[in-house]
Amino acid sequence: VEVVTCVGHTLVDPAAVMERAGGKPVTVYGTFCNHLKEVMKKAPVKTVAEVKEMSGLCDGAKKEVEERGCKVPTLAEIGYDAGQAKTPFKGGEKEALKRMEKYLSRTKWIADFEKPNTSPAVFDPEERSTTVLSPYLKFGCLSARHFYLLLLDVYRKAGKHTQPPVSLEGQLLWREFYYVCSVATPNYERMEGNPICRQIPWGSDQKHEEFFLAWKEARTGYPWIDAAMTQLRDEGHIHHLARHAVACFLTRGDLWVHWEKGVEVFDELLIDADWALNVGNWMWLSASCFFYQFFRVYSPVAFPKKYDPEGKFVKKYLPVLKNMPAKFIYEPWKAPISVQKQIGVMIGKDYPAPIVEHEKVSKENMAKMKDAYDANKEAAGAVDNPKASGGKRKAEQETEKEAKKTRKDEDKAGKAKKGNKVEKTKDEDKGGKKLKQTKLK
Ligand SMILES: Cc1cc2nc3c(=O)[nH]c(=O)nc-3n(C[C@H](O)[C@H](O)[C@H](O)COP(=O)(O)OP(=O)(O)OC[C@H]3O[C@@H](n4cnc5c(N)ncnc54)[C@H](O)[C@@H]3O)c2cc1C
Repeated sequence: VEVVTCVGHTLVDPAAVMERAGGKPVTVYGTFCNHLKEVMKKAPVKTVAEVKEMSGLCDGAKKEVEERGCKVPTLAEIGYDAGQAKTPFKGGEKEALKRMEKYLSRTKWIADFEKPNTSPAVFDPEERSTTVLSPYLKFGCLSARHFYLLLLDVYRKAGKHTQPPVSLEGQLLWREFYYVCSVATPNYERMEGNPICRQIPWGSDQKHEEFFLAWKEARTGYPWIDAAMTQLRDEGHIHHLARHAVACFLTRGDLWVHWEKGVEVFDELLIDADWALNVGNWMWLSASCFFYQFFRVYSPVAFPKKYDPEGKFVKKYLPVLKNMPAKFIYEPWKAPISVQKQIGVMIGKDYPAPIVEHEKVSKENMAKMKDAYDANKEAAGAVDNPKASGGKRKAEQETEKEAKKTRKDEDKAGKAKKGNKVEKTKDEDKGGKKLKQTKLK
């Protein structure tokens, strides 16, 4: 039997990028894009012009289906209660194309798109601040190549437009980035035995198990985190920055729980759950790989205020807090007892008190991250296994070299300023004036 394998789920064949990169995982986006560009020159992205009749191939299967009277099983038959499905996003190719066309018709929006400037607090399913095409791309209802080529058409029409990593094209390249990385990395979905992943001693005792469950079940006492986790459970899709916030909170930010536990929950609840992207982004957010500025932590209080000072998002997903004054919406434990009584919501009874003190634990966690980073460096420089340590040290040096080169490239192209987004950090949360710059995807 002749087996024909075709690559079509990604823009290019991940193996071709890997080969160009010398078979090693590339963990720096700029370097990756350089490889990708070269691969695309040789094998330009294209879609299938016409789908040929395939009935001849499927005769055997067709016969079996007819003979056995097979049909597509209902949701109930595979153990789901259709009545419980709350996601506003319908499946299928028609829906995918309709949604894609709607967003692509907004030429100016496409040309100006900068991911860090999109809001995680918009909840109208038809007006989300990003495309919500991920579930369709994941299931193959929408071809990434088709979307990419039409996007380039819009750019041509628009003239001036934003650039990767923050542009919409840049988002599709992030998808490509993680796919290639997942193919090139042994034990990609685990910390142990994964050569690109920092080894961090995440908490694994009873306390951390309880933290994990509280996070998963949206009862951390931080309304922004709990609202996002409720949206995730109900709808199966949350904005990228909401994913950032809850992932940072679970891992290095607040709860010190292993990122692998977060991957499992996202895998279960996301309608766009996609192994390569899910794992890669969790490594990013936990500062285990790709992103190393562990001292930049999302505040569960200051961060959402930027996008939604009145807390409409929280009030939608946590109706128990619908009458909480905006002033206390992200820190309801600060509402005076008289206010709590007046609105009939006692913190600690009707809505949980905060599970940890963000200000305190985030600082402690930064110190733990620093220790872990130092230990990783030491392990890389260990003398007892010169062969292994030499390899690891070399990989680290290469990553650093790549990062430097990317920064230089970006500076040259004048992109650095554009890609740098002022993010409120702990300092600002405390009322300090200092704003730090961080680079968001
Ligand atoms: C912890 C964490 C876990 C994630 N898990 C998944 C996952 O399982 N499946 C998934 O599709 N995305 C995942 N993402 C990436 C990203 O959040 C989603 O792709 C994006 O929010 C989907 O919404 P959209 O289609 O509106 O994106 P848009 O901004 O409209 O982007 C268009 C497309 O680009 C791709 N894309 C965008 N951002 C990223 C990114 N950071 N990495 C890779 N591809 C990207 C997606 O295919 C997306 O549909 C995760 C992000 C984080 C922080």
